[in-house]
Formats: sequence, C-alpha cells, structure tokens
Amino acid sequence: TSFQKQNLVRILQSVVTLLEAQAALNNIEIRMEVEARIPLVECSEMEIKQVFVNVLKNAIEAMPHGGVIRIIALLQESGVLIRFIDQGVGIGENQFPRLGEPFFTTKEKGTGLGLMMCYKIIGDHKGEININSALHEGTTFDIILPLTDGS
Ligand code: ADP
Ligand code: MG
Repeated sequence: TSFQKQNLVRILQSVVTLLEAQAALNNIEIRMEVEARIPLVECSEMEIKQVFVNVLKNAIEAMPHGGVIRIIALLQESGVLIRFIDQGVGIGENQFPRLGEPFFTTKEKGTGLGLMMCYKIIGDHKGEININSALHEGTTFDIILPLTDGS
C-alpha cells in the first residue's frame, strides 16, 4: 500500500461526526482539543479512519452512564499523538494483557477484533499504541504516528 500525506485532524473530525449521534444518545459529549500546527502525516486515510472509529466506539461503549470523551491531538518529537480519554468502566489488570488478542471481548455482542485490527494498522504505519486505564475511572488510549522526513 502506498501512503499519502493526510490531515489527521480532518480525519478525526469526520469520525466524530460519524459517531456523534450515538454518543449523544448515551449522554456523552465529545470534546476535541487540537493543537494548531499538526503536520500532515503519511498514512492510509481509510485505515486510520477505521482505527479512530474503533477506538472512539470502544470509548462510547465503555460509558453507559454518559460523560465526556476528550480527543487531543498534539505534535510530539516522536510524531503526532492522538489521545482519546474516556470516563468509562476501565480495563481490569487481568484483561490488560489480552487486549488486541483476536476474539477477546468483555461485551455481550463484541467481536474482539477491533483492537487487533488497530494494532495491525498502526504497526503497518510504524506507529505506536499505548493504553492506560484505571478500573471504574476510565481509559486513555494513545496513538502515535511517526512523521516522515520533511513534514
Ligand atoms: P470489542 O469492542 O468487539 O469488544 P475490541 O477489540 O474493540 O473488541 O476491544 C476488546 C476489549 O477491550 C473490549 O471488549 C473491552 O473489554 C476492552 N476495551 C477496549 N477499549 C476500551 C475502553 N475504552 N474502555 C474499556 N474497555 C475497553
Ligand atoms: Mg471494539
């Protein structure tokens, strides 16, 4: 696959638009906090969109009682950081090592394939996924996409 320079913030906005209604139905407000100068990133727009949809859906599904989901975009030395912070159920310590394992789900109607796909796609982009979570408090999901020379 050949990657092209894309505006991650625009991709994020399209994903928020896509899921806003589902969030609102669950009394969830999505707040975007985007740093002004985020450079374009070489990526597959379609794949990165799939990743953002999956991560944001997981955040929504983790918050049955509503709340706020913050999405932050920051320029870092290692690349562009996209951070999703939810106030959801969190991830138990015993579940943590199994995240991304195919068919691992804690949901009645889950597939357990979303995170596996996210790891695969972000790996193909030479990026990084970092997850921090506190049970009953929430989860922070970091996606870092590297910058290519000259961006
Ligand atoms: P699915 O959403 O179909 O269950 P995923 O691969 O997307 O599959 O996620 C696997 C599991 O990881 C979920 O079932 C859930 O237990 C956990 N998980 C992922 N994201 C979150 C989150 N933001 N908050 C709490 N748990 C999460
Ligand atoms: Mg999922």
